[in-house]
Amino acid sequence: MIIDYAPDYTYPLYRPPSEAYSLIFQITEGCSYNKCTFCGMYVDKKFSLKPFEKIKIEVERMPEKYRLNVRRIFLADGDAVSYPTEGLIKILDYLNDRFPYVERISSYAGPHAIMKKSIDEWVEFKKRKLNLLYFGLESGNNEVLELMNKGMKSDKVKPKVIDIQEIGINFSVMIILGAGGKLLSDAHVCDTALWISQVNPKYLGMLTLFIRRKKDYFDKIQTPTVGDLITESRKIVENINGSGIIFRSNHISNFVTLKGVLKEDRDRLLNQLDYTLEYIRKNDLFDKYPDYYREEF
Ligand code: SF4
Repeated sequence: MIIDYAPDYTYPLYRPPSEAYSLIFQITEGCSYNKCTFCGMYVDKKFSLKPFEKIKIEVERMPEKYRLNVRRIFLADGDAVSYPTEGLIKILDYLNDRFPYVERISSYAGPHAIMKKSIDEWVEFKKRKLNLLYFGLESGNNEVLELMNKGMKSDKVKPKVIDIQEIGINFSVMIILGAGGKLLSDAHVCDTALWISQVNPKYLGMLTLFIRRKKDYFDKIQTPTVGDLITESRKIVENINGSGIIFRSNHISNFVTLKGVLKEDRDRLLNQLDYTLEYIRKNDLFDKYPDYYREEF
């Protein structure tokens, strides 16, 4: 069945798991940066801004009876908040007007957009219900970030993230297990846990590094084993000293599904990880390499 009021998408289109029930408008295509060595999400998409008039047509196609039920909107693609401020405000005003009961507008936010927009600009977005940003920190360690070619330093973006949180925009921060390979694992764990503890984001997601349409990064690191990855997750959980952080490690790339609040649920999560570590040791799985390090996977 063709639903003629669905927005026009180009694929692949990614969204966070927690936006499964949100209405998605793709106001940009691709990623404005697109140079991270580990990321193949938008390798074959050229970055572009969707003109306001096109977005307007997509919204207008949706019957009012559906629009009135929309509570959450996610703006795609990879870094939609990099949209020039004047245009983004126009889009947000329009969405608020046409979806009067929307409660949350969210987007992925790359470090460059976070840094480039001033706090006054973020205040204007927040007034228009842009109140959740998904931010891929990946690692709190600058050496790891350099290897990944993230184009940012974790200590530089940290104060800006804290300032944006203070005006009421929440962050969902993503970190990556195995991001530093075997060699930088300790530094990755230590600096990532410290960054998260100091920023205390509302949400924290932990994924595992895996090959997706781009292999460059994996040629540079000594890939961790299943045991290394689970040990790393244990150390990160153990060292986060924040409070009330809603923590999820339930991506398809993870070996152990973890859900809780940090650090309130820390002991329970550590017990779960200890049990898993004991199990993989007993079953000779500790030194195995995950299947998703194979390119053909
Ligand atoms: S990780 Fe994020 S910022 Fe880096 S290329 Fe991929 S989508 Fe763009």
